Formats: sequence, C-alpha cells, structure tokens
Amino acid sequence: MKLVILDRDGTINADSDEYIKTPEEWQPLPGALEAIARLNHAGWHVAVASNQSGLGRGLFDVASLNAIHAKMHKALSAYGGRIDAIFYCPHSPDEGCQCRKPLPGLFEQIGERFGVDLHTTHVVGDTPRDLQAGASVGCQPHLVLTGKAAGLGEQPLPEGYPAGTRVHRDLAAFVDWLIARAPAPRPGQVQPPSADAPA
Ligand SMILES: [Mg+2]
Ligand SMILES: [Zn+2]
Repeated sequence: MKLVILDRDGTINADSDEYIKTPEEWQPLPGALEAIARLNHAGWHVAVASNQSGLGRGLFDVASLNAIHAKMHKALSAYGGRIDAIFYCPHSPDEGCQCRKPLPGLFEQIGERFGVDLHTTHVVGDTPRDLQAGASVGCQPHLVLTGKAAGLGEQPLPEGYPAGTRVHRDLAAFVDWLIARAPAPRPGQVQPPSADAPA
C-alpha cells in the first residue's frame, strides 16, 4: 500500500499562532488540495497526523475540530481528492501522552490501522517534530517550506531534522517529486524500461 502521512497546520492549511479553532479559520494553502488529489490519482492513500493541543488547552472542542475536518474533506472532494483518516493528539504538552509529536504514537496508530510497513511511507511536515515522529518509526521525512518553515532556505537545514530529510517548496512540489520518482502505471500500460536498466 502506498501511503503518505501529512501534517495538517502549515502543510495543508495556513498555520496560526492563535490555533485553528473554527472552520472559518481553516484556509487551505495555495495548491495543497490539488496536490492531495493528484496523490490520490497516482494511487497514494493519504492520512493526516496532527497535534491539536488546542483541545487539551480548552481553546476549542471536538465538535469544532470535527467541523474543521468536515470543511477540509468537503473542500478536498471538490478536487476529487480524499484523506482516508485523520489522527490527532488532543493532549496538552504537560499531559505526558505518547501521541504528541515528536513522539511516534500517531504514526504507530496509522501503521496499525492501515496495516502498512511504515518504512514504505512518507511523512510530510513543516516542523522538525513532525519529521522526528515519522522518521523514528521508519517513515521517509520530507520538509515543506510552508507554515513554520516558510522562512527557511533550501540548504543547509538547521539542527533537529532527521537524516535524509528532503526539502520541497510546498506540498505540490513534494507531490511532483514523488510522482516523478514513482509514476503510476495506467491499466494495461506496459512500463518502459528505466534509463538505468541493464540493456
Ligand atoms: Mg505543522
Ligand atoms: Zn497525545
């Protein structure tokens, strides 16, 4: 199974230091929803792993979070895209849970739910803790230069990113890279030999 695990705030939608508390505050980043739809059409499933400590802090409730996610699903479906599942950590930092990124709890839940070897998956996020959480259980890490990483240049990365982190301008650029790397064969299409295949 081809699976990409996305951070939400700063990766799919604009981040806010004031938290995303209402559907109105949830605004997709340019090109992000189209990018998810392109992933789907190339055969990739998409899951979201998101810290939502605003719940634990009492800034919004689960009904509001569900309404935000309903908006996200609906907006995405207009592009023919689909997020299969959203896993979130509802805890505040002082609750000592195992699911708040950079801890890997959400990723372990995703691996179990999808029955997928996480070493075949990709994690995309805008902060080191997104990538640490995924990489610690084998996901291939990708940083997008949106959200909290919007001010970062391409190279060199500051400390704290897992080894092998690839950097992409935004989610659309990540999808370009992933699809170019592993084109999906169309039904009935014979795969041409790759350029470096032995003659
Ligand atoms: Mg983020
Ligand atoms: Zn948690």
